Parts: sequence; structure tokens; C-alpha cells
Amino acid sequence: MAGIYIHIPFCKQACHYCNFYFTTNLKNVEASVHSMRRELKIRKEYLGKQTISTIYFGGGTPSMLHPSQIQQLIETVREHYLLEEHVEITLEANPDNLDATYLKELADTEVNRFSIGIQSFNDAELKWMNRAHNQQEALECLDLCRDFGYSNFSIDLIFGIPISNTDIWTSNLNQALRLKPHHISCYALTVEENTALDHFVKAGKTPAVVDKDQREQFYLGHDILEAHGYDHYEISNYALQGHASKHNSSYWEGVHYLGIGPGAHSYNGISRSWNVAHLIQYMKAIEENRLPLESEILDLKDQYNEWVMTSIRKKVGIDISLLGEMFSVFKSHFYNMLEEIPSSYIVRDSKGIRLSKEGMIFADFVGSALFKTD
Ligand code: SF4
Repeated sequence: MAGIYIHIPFCKQACHYCNFYFTTNLKNVEASVHSMRRELKIRKEYLGKQTISTIYFGGGTPSMLHPSQIQQLIETVREHYLLEEHVEITLEANPDNLDATYLKELADTEVNRFSIGIQSFNDAELKWMNRAHNQQEALECLDLCRDFGYSNFSIDLIFGIPISNTDIWTSNLNQALRLKPHHISCYALTVEENTALDHFVKAGKTPAVVDKDQREQFYLGHDILEAHGYDHYEISNYALQGHASKHNSSYWEGVHYLGIGPGAHSYNGISRSWNVAHLIQYMKAIEENRLPLESEILDLKDQYNEWVMTSIRKKVGIDISLLGEMFSVFKSHFYNMLEEIPSSYIVRDSKGIRLSKEGMIFADFVGSALFKTD
């Protein structure tokens, strides 16, 4: 069991908070699809003989591709890899792309899941983030998805926006719930270095994130979504029963994956690699039969740190028997460091350690406190 991630690096416009690799220059869309199909062929041995259970088109904005280009990429995967019978194929999409024509054409592809970048249903917030859509487009695209019979979709929302408040956040959640999506992701707004938002905050042009407000909205999201039957199965992710994202869950469970496209990362249990985050350099290398990537070997300590950080983010937490099986050499370190963490942040039971509701917001702190650093 393994996954394939395909990074589509095109966006209509730059969101102020974004630090993903993307370009708004669309002249190389067709050529990049050719290069990504070629990379899929060149790297067909990377995952060994593992079958592919998930394909994920992320970005950037994958819905900037024509559905026929998406299907070409899926067919190239089919040509060179062994796929499981019920492979989950997710397309990240933005509301301004998902009109009736696009959805009709997408029905001819094998995409069976959407992750829709709504982020907010509030026009002032959308404008503040410089999103390419407005509230009306967000609502219309979700209604259209339902009309076209797509029920398996996820909605992305952002909370903790400095111009927001609990009333707006509650309204955003209620708008999302109106459509009963199978899956909802809620991300805290982060001001990443060198983004437009970072410059605006430093220049005093916009207020900074207030941690207390973010915490309040995180817990509000948890309470409202759980009350509506959504399982908070990972810090940022909620799902109705049986609808957790297979692809994202595989990252948190250490499943191997191949990343295709500029800036995409790959992991095969021993090493991690990452493609150059530059479209022209990426295409040039691929067309010359060179792999445009750097890689690092993960030693046992790196593997342990990674396992701790991903496990602690999951509702089920850290499985103590797995810790013993996989990292017995770090077990005493783990228990020593555990004593340094406020007891109200964690819950211990016979199976292991997981975050309490209070501790969820401090997942990164708890994970890094357990790291092996020397
Ligand atoms: S659409 Fe997504 S990838 Fe593109 S700029 Fe906005 S946040 Fe970044």
C-alpha cells in the first residue's frame, strides 16, 4: 500500500498567506503535464512492488488543469503502477474553477473525491486573504457538486484570521455543515516568513494573529463539529464515520509515497527526497532524463522524531506497543521527556498517550518535547 502525490503548481492569483510552491504564469500548463507524466514513468521503481491505494492532486490549484489533463495523469499512473481496486483519487479544487462545465467534464475522469479550498464564506475574510473567489461562488460551487452527485468532498476552512471573530467563525462552520460534507479540514492561519501577509504584519498594515483568539476558535470548531457527528481524527481534520482521508492518513501512518511535480516530496521509509521548487528547472531536468531532486537518508532518530510528531497529531495518539517494537532504544527517553509535559495536555491509557482536548492546540509543543535531539 502506497500513495502518489502530484503537485500542480498553478494558481489564478496569490493568496497573501500562502507559502506553497506555485506560479500564476499559466503558459507552461500543457508542457508541465507532459513532464509530470514523464516523471511518473522515470520513477516507476521508487515504490517497489507496492500497490497504489491513493492518488492526490495537490497544489497550487489542481483544478487549473483541464479534466482531460487530469485523466491523462491518472492513466499514466495506471500504465506504470499497480493500483488497488478502490483507489481514492482526490482533486484539490478552488470554487472559482468548479463551474457546471468543469464538473460535467470532470465526470469523465476517475477523480472520486474533492478537497475544496473554501477557506471562508465571509467576503471580508476572503478579500483580506486575497482569495480568487467570493462567498457566492463558494456556495454555488458546493451546491453544484451536490447537483452533480458528488457527495465525497472535503471543505477546507481557515480560522484565527485577525479580522475575524467567533461569530464569523461559527457562521463559517454552519455554512459548511449545511451541505453535510463527508470531511472538513480546519487550519489555523499561520503567518509564514516572506509571505505577503508577513510583510503586511511587519509593516503594521494589518493586525497580527492573536493566539488567544485562535485557541478559542479551535475549541469552538472542535465542539461544533463533534456535536454534528464529525470525528476529530487529526488536529486539523474532521470526518463523518468512514470518511477520513485515506491519503492524508497514510502520511500520518508512515505509508510510503511518491511525489511528482515541482516542489513535491517523496518518502520510502529510508529516505526523503524533494523535487526542485521551480517549474522551469523541473521541466528542463525531466526532459533531459535527470531527476531534479535532493534527498536525505533518515537515521533511526529522524524516523523516531517523525513518528512521534505525526502520531501525536492523531486522535488515537502514540501507540506504546508500537513504540516498543519500532524504537525500543528511545523508550526510556520518551518516558523521561513525558514528565516535562504539563499533565493536562495528555491522556494516558493502557494503549498509549494521546492529547487531551486542552493539549490539542499544543500538539507541536508536545511532539517536539518528546524529540530525540542528540
Ligand atoms: S490557491 Fe492555494 S496554493 Fe494557490 S496561492 Fe492560494 S493558498 Fe496558495
